[in-house]
Amino acid sequence: MSSEPETGEWQSLVAAEQAVSKLRTAIYGLPRRAEVLADAISGSSVWDRTVALRFIREFPEDTPHLLDQLVELAMSTGWARESIEAIRAARSEIDSTRMTAIVKSFLTDADAEDYLRLAELTAQTEAWQALGAVIAAAAASDDPEKQEVARDFTESHGTRIQMRDAEQQSACSHSDWLSAFDRAYRHVDDLDQIPCPHCGRYSLRLVFVVDDLDSVNATGAFWCDSCLWGLMPERASVPGGAVRMVRGTEKIPNYRLVLDTDSEQ
Ligand SMILES: [Zn+2]
Repeated sequence: MSSEPETGEWQSLVAAEQAVSKLRTAIYGLPRRAEVLADAISGSSVWDRTVALRFIREFPEDTPHLLDQLVELAMSTGWARESIEAIRAARSEIDSTRMTAIVKSFLTDADAEDYLRLAELTAQTEAWQALGAVIAAAAASDDPEKQEVARDFTESHGTRIQMRDAEQQSACSHSDWLSAFDRAYRHVDDLDQIPCPHCGRYSLRLVFVVDDLDSVNATGAFWCDSCLWGLMPERASVPGGAVRMVRGTEKIPNYRLVLDTDSEQ
């Protein structure tokens, strides 16, 4: 049996929650709602920010417009969890290209800890394209801590990224592939350290098809064994140490071609 004061407190809590619920509905109807929320999130008041983050978790409609601010918040220690939850609640309404562009803009001056936070944010909000961009940038960096972030998240989420990318058409540009090819061509021994420009995995293959094993002229094929995207095979001289295969015996999968659409437009 509850005593009188406890029942009184319970009733007060119920009344308070009802009042909050009514006020949320009223806020939802405000014409300047998005502005009010943006000010609350970027302002200095901890309570304003907390209330705004809770509000958009319940009404995720404005979250896509607040994405810049939310990604920035997700990189700070105190706010990471709440802003990730807010973004997660709106994940089906967030445009993946825009999310990727925002995440990339934060990578410019990011240290290893920022990389880790952005990888966690994109993984938990299922922003696979953006996570692929974080992994690719981390892998290409010469900072061992960033490279560790790339390895960890490729191991834990690589398949998700690959599945997501396979559904889309080529998400990265022909020029990204050309620079990966250039790097692979100059450092054939380090091929397994170059991330795929498309899926971020370390599965790139570079094979030179020759008419006979003494030939220096060949057709170079460059592709990724994970996502099966690659470049149009082209005539190239074989660099030292590269894999050669005699025409007719080559084992090259039927991969999809990343075309140079930039120059066509
Ligand atoms: Zn790939």
